[in-house]
Amino acid sequence: MTTVEVFAPAKINLTLHVTGQREDGYHLLDSLVCFAHVGDRLTVSPAPSNQLTVTGRYAGAVPTGDDNLIWKAAGLLNRAFDVTLEKNLPVASGIGGGSADAAAALSAMTSVMNCPMPGLEAQLSLGADVPVCVMGGLVRMRGIGDQLEPLDTGAFPWPMVLVNPGVPVSTPAVFRSLASKTNAPMASPFELGPSPIQMDGFIDWLAQQRNDLEAPAKELVTEVGDVLDRIQAQSGCLLARMSGSGATCFGIFAEDDAARSAAQALSAEQPDWWVAPSIGPGF
Ligand code: ATP
Repeated sequence: MTTVEVFAPAKINLTLHVTGQREDGYHLLDSLVCFAHVGDRLTVSPAPSNQLTVTGRYAGAVPTGDDNLIWKAAGLLNRAFDVTLEKNLPVASGIGGGSADAAAALSAMTSVMNCPMPGLEAQLSLGADVPVCVMGGLVRMRGIGDQLEPLDTGAFPWPMVLVNPGVPVSTPAVFRSLASKTNAPMASPFELGPSPIQMDGFIDWLAQQRNDLEAPAKELVTEVGDVLDRIQAQSGCLLARMSGSGATCFGIFAEDDAARSAAQALSAEQPDWWVAPSIGPGF
C-alpha cells in the first residue's frame, strides 16, 4: 500500500499588518510569510476508516477527533486514511501548526490517491493560513489569506531561532485587544531586489514593517515581551519579532553558528521554553 511521509513546516509571519475588517468579521491582512526548517511530520496511507496516531513533544495538545484539521482535510477528499502525526510544534502558538498539518495532509492525501488538490476556496474553509501553507516558500499574503503572491526566495530563509514560552494565546482575544483594525499595509513599493535577496537591505526593510498583533499580545501575555527581549539580546540577532498572534517569536541571524549558539543560550536560560533553531538550505 502507498505510504507518503510529508513535512509540515512552521509558518512564520515575518510581518503581519492588520489593514481592515470585513462586515462578516474576517480580518484583512498584509503579511510576508515564510516557512521554517522546523515542523511536524505526517505519514499518510489510504485506509478503510480514519485512524490517527499522534507522537512527539506536543502529542497531548492536539485534538484527536473530527476537529483535528487533518480530518477536515480528509473530508474535502471524501476518503479515509491512516495518519501518524509527529507533533513537534507547540499548539495555538502563532506558527500555524494546525494549518501546516492540514496543508501537508492535503499534499500527502492527494498524492497517495492520485487526485487533484482542492481549490483555494476549499483550502480556505479549513483555515485562513491553509492556502499559504499549501503554497510554501516566501509569500506575500493579503486579503483574508486568499490573495497570495509568491516571491523569489533566493537564499531565504536565513537562520532563525523560534521561541515559545509555553503559554497558549487566544487569537480572538488578541484581535479583540487590537487598538485599531485599520492600519497601513506593508511599505510600498515592495521590492526585495534581485535574487538572492540581499540580507542587509531586507533586514532594514523588515525592521520598518510590523506585526500589529505584537502590542496586544504583549499586554495579554507578559511572557511575549520577555521572549522578544531575550532573543534580541543574543549575539548576532538581526531582528526579533512575534509571529501570528503569538506567543511564538523568531529571531533572524546572519550565520548558522550564531543561531545555534543563541538557541543553546536561550534553552539554558529558560529550560521549559520551546526553543528551536531553524537552520538549513533555502527552499
Ligand atoms: P495561526 O498561526 O494560524 O493562528 P496557531 O499556531 O495559533 O495558528 P494552531 O497550532 O494551528 O494555532 O492551533 C489552533 C487550534 O487548532 C488549536 O486550538 C487546536 O485545538 C486546533 N487544531 C486542530 N487540528 C490541529 C492540529 N493538527 N495541530 C494543531 N492544532 C490543531
